[in-house]
Amino acid sequence: MSRHSARTTSRSRWVLGAIVVGLPLSLLPATAGAQPSLAPAPQRDRGWHGQPTTLPKVPVMTGSGGAVSSVDRDASQVGIDILSRGGNAADAAVATAAALGVTEPYSAGIGGGGFLVYYDAKSRKVSTIDGRETAPATFTYKTFVDAAGQPMVFNTVVNSGLSVGIPGTPALWAKALRDYGTLSLNAALKPAERLAANGFVVDKTFADQTAANAERFSVFPETAKVFLRDNKAPAVGSVFTNPDMARAYRTLRTQGTKALYAGRLGQAIVAEARAPHTTPGTSVMGGEMTMADLRAYRALTKAPIHSQYKGYDVYGMPVPSSGGIAVAAILNLMTAYERRTGVSTGEVDQTQYLHRFSEASATAFADRNRWVGDVPGVPVKELTDPAFAAERACLFDPTKANPRPIPFGSPDGSYAACAPGTVAQKEPYEGQSTTHLTATDRWGNVASYTLTIEQTGGSGITVPGYGFLLNNELTDFNFTPLTKDVPDPNLPGPGKRPRSSMSPTILLNDGKPFLAVGSPGGATIITSVSQAILGYLDRDLSLVDAIAAPRLSSRNGSTEGAEPEILGGPTGAALTAMGHKLASAGTPNEIGAVTAIRSFGHGLFQAAAETTRRGGGSAMVVHPR
Ligand code: GLU
Repeated sequence: MSRHSARTTSRSRWVLGAIVVGLPLSLLPATAGAQPSLAPAPQRDRGWHGQPTTLPKVPVMTGSGGAVSSVDRDASQVGIDILSRGGNAADAAVATAAALGVTEPYSAGIGGGGFLVYYDAKSRKVSTIDGRETAPATFTYKTFVDAAGQPMVFNTVVNSGLSVGIPGTPALWAKALRDYGTLSLNAALKPAERLAANGFVVDKTFADQTAANAERFSVFPETAKVFLRDNKAPAVGSVFTNPDMARAYRTLRTQGTKALYAGRLGQAIVAEARAPHTTPGTSVMGGEMTMADLRAYRALTKAPIHSQYKGYDVYGMPVPSSGGIAVAAILNLMTAYERRTGVSTGEVDQTQYLHRFSEASATAFADRNRWVGDVPGVPVKELTDPAFAAERACLFDPTKANPRPIPFGSPDGSYAACAPGTVAQKEPYEGQSTTHLTATDRWGNVASYTLTIEQTGGSGITVPGYGFLLNNELTDFNFTPLTKDVPDPNLPGPGKRPRSSMSPTILLNDGKPFLAVGSPGGATIITSVSQAILGYLDRDLSLVDAIAAPRLSSRNGSTEGAEPEILGGPTGAALTAMGHKLASAGTPNEIGAVTAIRSFGHGLFQAAAETTRRGGGSAMVVHPR
C-alpha cells in the first residue's frame, strides 16, 4: 500500500523542497497537517515589465512568476524573458524550443518533430499536440527491406534521405500558439533568430556531440560548412553563430509555416531529402518526400493518456508515442508489486527498489513492443488498466529477475490471477538523443514538451541556405517484423508516424498542477521519466535529487543499461546476483536528461534539472526567492 495519500505526499514534499532550497522558516507550514500557507507571488518585481533578469545556470531554482527548465541556459533564459514580459507557458515553451533548435541543433529544431502535453488553467483540462513526423505517401511496409529481402543496414538508412520524415515541429509551434498562446509565431521565434545570428558560447556537450558526428557530417558539404570548423568541432568557449538558421527562423516568422509546408523553404527541404548533396566520390540514398506530403502534414490535437498513481492524475502522450502508455503501465505494475508483497516502494532498500523497477519496465516494454504503434485498435484502455497490471504482476519474484525477454501479455479486458504470456520478442533498436523542456506561468498553465530530430545530429543532412538538420525519425519504424508471424504495429506505411518513446508528462493533484516532467533518450525516456516520478513520490528524494539519482533502464532486452554508480557498486552486484544482466549505459555513460517543474500553488514553483548529465541542465523561475 502507498505510504502517502496524494495530499500528504505533496505536503511533505513541499517541506522538503523548502529546506533544500533554503526558504525562510517563516514560509514553512506552521503545524503538521496544515496546508502550506504562502504569501501570494509578488506582482511587481524586477523584470516584470520588459526588463528580464539574467539568471545563472543552476539545476534547481524556487520562486514565483512562472518557471522554465531545459538542458540549456540560453534557452531557459529565452523562456523566462517571455514569461517576464507577460507571455504564458505556451509562448514560453515555443520560444524555448526554438532557442534549443539553435543551441541544441543536433537534438531538436525546425527539421524534426515532437509532442506537447499542456494543462490549460482556464478550462482546467490537459490536452496534447502530436507533432510527430510522418512517412511520405509512397512508403510501404517493405520500404526498409532490400532487394534480397533483408532489412537495410540501419546506419546506411540513418545517413540518407530515406530516413527523413515530414517535419512536424513548425506545425506544432503554430498550433500551440494558436490554441493556447498569446504571442504570434513572429514574436515567439524572434529570440531564437537573434540567438542564431549573434551566437552562443560553445560548451563541452556541444563540442563533444559535434566531434562524435564529425565524420558523418563531413560527407554532407552543407553540414560541414555550418557545423564543422576545418572538419573538426568548434572549440569550447568559442562563439558559434548560424546565420543560415537565423534566416530560416526569419522566413518562418515573417511568412508563417506555409513557407515550409507550401513554399520555398519546403521546396528546399524536399530537394535536399530526395537528392542529398554529398562530397565528391560519396553518395547516400535519396528519400521520397514530396511537396504534397508537406502540404498534407497536420499537427494533431489528441486526448492524453490518463492514469492514476498514488492519488495523482498522470497525463501522458498517446499513440504514436508509446510514452504515456508505458509510463502508466510501469507505475501500475509498481503498485501491483506493492499489493502482492504488502511492502511499499518507499520501504524497500535500493536493490529491491531497482529490482522492482527493472521487472516493471521490462514487462511494460514487452507489451508496448507488441501492441503499440500508429495503427487503429491499439488496446490503450487495457494496457493502462490496473487490472491488466495485476495480472502481469504474477510474474514478479522479489528474489530473482525474470529471464529476458519477458513474453508479452494479452490486454483483452478479461484478467485472471495469472497469464504469463508465451511469445517473447527481441528488443527493437532505438538510439538516444532529443531534448525536453517544461514551462509554467503565473496563471497556472503548464507545458511539458519533448522534441527531437531522432539520432544526435539527425540524418546528418543540412538544408542548404537554412542551417538546420533534417531528422532521421523514420528509422524509429521497425524495418521488418520484430517476430515472424506476430503482427508488428510499428512497420512503415504511407503517411504513418513512427512509434516514439517520448513521454512529456503532467501530474495533477486534486485537479491542480503538481509536476511536469520529461526527458530525452530514445526508449530510455520511458524509464527515466518513470524513475524521476518514483524517486520523487516514493523514495523520499527532493525533486533535484530524484532527477540526479543513478538510473537503470530495463527495456526487455538481453541486458539492462545501468549508470556507473549502480553498475560499479554494491547495488549492481546485488542485482547481478538476482539474475539481472547489467551493462554500461553507453557513450556518454549516462541515461537521459530530465527537466521538471513542481507547482506548489499560490504562485510558487520549483524548477529542477540535471546536476551533471549532459553538462547539467538549467532551471529558472521569473522571481527567484
Ligand atoms: N526518436 C526517439 C523517439 O521518438 C527520440 C529520439 C531519441 O531520444 O533518441 O522516441
